[in-house]
Amino acid sequence: MFNINNITRKNILELTPYSSAREEFSGEASIWLDANENPFDTILNRYPDPYQKTLKNAISEMKGIPTDHIFIGNGSDEAIDLLFRAFCEPQQDKAFIFPPTYGMYEVSAKINNVEIVRLSLDDNFELPALDVIKDQIQSKGLLFICSPNNPTGNIYPLDSIKEIADCFPGIVVVDEAYIDFSNARSAISLLTNTPNLVVLQTMSKAYGLAGLRLGMAFAQPEILRILNKIKPPYNVNTLSQSKGLEIVQKRAIVKQQIKQIQLEREKLIEALKSISIVQKVYPTTANFILAKFDDAKNVFKTLQEKGIIIRDRSSQIENALRITVGTAEQNQQLIAILKEIKQ
Ligand SMILES: *Cc1c(COP(=O)(O)O)cnc(C)c1O
Repeated sequence: MFNINNITRKNILELTPYSSAREEFSGEASIWLDANENPFDTILNRYPDPYQKTLKNAISEMKGIPTDHIFIGNGSDEAIDLLFRAFCEPQQDKAFIFPPTYGMYEVSAKINNVEIVRLSLDDNFELPALDVIKDQIQSKGLLFICSPNNPTGNIYPLDSIKEIADCFPGIVVVDEAYIDFSNARSAISLLTNTPNLVVLQTMSKAYGLAGLRLGMAFAQPEILRILNKIKPPYNVNTLSQSKGLEIVQKRAIVKQQIKQIQLEREKLIEALKSISIVQKVYPTTANFILAKFDDAKNVFKTLQEKGIIIRDRSSQIENALRITVGTAEQNQQLIAILKEIKQ
């Protein structure tokens, strides 16, 4: 039923990709005179591996997934943009989202001149039953499910994701930027039986490398072949590849930090619940907490004056603020100030 040729843009199917020097020859050699590089060693005088083989091998081992199911981008934001360019014909295909959610899907859609279709979550920000949306999602393009969702923090059941993917005629993108903070199973486990699924993860959050720009897309090889065809040849630089490899090898440290953040998250939730100006604390499995306040603007402003910056999400959800879980000390300072704010 799923045929990659039916959902890929015609110009992309027909494209002959740029062939870089490092792609035409990637074997062993002692003298490299093919890429117009400066021959004097600066550690960085050579172009990076266009397909990041060493890093992919390490990620493959860590995730238990073959290397041909892994794509690495300059942040997951690059993967999102490439997905649009590959699979959304401008002014024809559509991008489906479940707001409130991550803003980049809509921005990327607009940049690529693709119409956005907003589907409704229920009052608890849970996915609607398939019956409710089935008829609305019968056009080609991309359907984004952010799980755990930013900014609400809740995670969606894999069953619901699978059901939606099976009935959507385009590609379903499950953005798992925060999955490492939940103890839930990744949608990667659905890949074998879901040919139209792309799972995004990132080194920007739990792995502590937002400055590095390393995002991962996991999917069947036929989807990733298309992304590889259109990506900038050297999209992940040498330093990012080596630092990424290092963190994969030292992931015990990351695990430890995640445990600490999870612990702090639970403490912060309890503290917030005890504060009178907090109306509601939403359940979260991410490293942030969405909470409703009596007067979000005032809380936001007061914190800012004291040098504490949180995210004002009141344009998306009335009186809602999103708070990233910090260190124990940072969270205590935040709570101390919140306790002093009067209604
Ligand atoms: C932070 C975040 C990302 C990360 O994007 P990168 O480009 O990898 O830094 C992706 N998706 C969501 C929902 C996020 O909140």
